[in-house]
Amino acid sequence: MNWIDNVKKNIFPLSIEKYSLHIALEEWYFDHMEDNIEADSTCQLCDHFPIRYKFLITNHITKKQLYVGSECILRFEDENYSLKDENGNFVDNDTLNNAKNIALKTMLLDYLRTVDSLDPRDILEIIEKDKKLSPKMIPMFYRPYKHADDSMKKIMRKYLKVNLRKNVNQQQLHDFIDNNEWQAEFIREFMTTQQIEKYF
Ligand SMILES: [Zn+2]
Repeated sequence: MNWIDNVKKNIFPLSIEKYSLHIALEEWYFDHMEDNIEADSTCQLCDHFPIRYKFLITNHITKKQLYVGSECILRFEDENYSLKDENGNFVDNDTLNNAKNIALKTMLLDYLRTVDSLDPRDILEIIEKDKKLSPKMIPMFYRPYKHADDSMKKIMRKYLKVNLRKNVNQQQLHDFIDNNEWQAEFIREFMTTQQIEKYF
């Protein structure tokens, strides 16, 4: 069975339209992404196994949903089909990257909300708004980081950024480097290569 036939086989039973894939796809929109860390899911559109990132598409009439791999979603374009997101924009690589960003950040925020030692309001808001944290704030993540599994550690390194633009922040870092070696080493884990070269 080729890809298109497979897609039709899976999408028509959940759609009002039963004959044209072009028309059926108009009933569907791209919803959001979920990270399936175990990578043990099957693409419900083409039956490919395994998929790590599950992109959810929803039929706005039947309310049925399908978990789809990224390759499948992007392949529509190659085959001259199109899928839109909930705002009516065509789904492309940027849409998926953006969805992936949001999903990973949500996982991070959910994880950090389970950590008692963090004040959720201030810090979570800074992360949520993609703002950088001052060097003084980074050591607060020492315990959550130590207890995180490898994939959460990776997510933390991606989303916890150190703000070193202001003098006061650079001074904080230097105070750590001079007086508190392990905290300085910990902050270093979240700095960019350029920041390390410049300030460490
Ligand atoms: Zn697929």
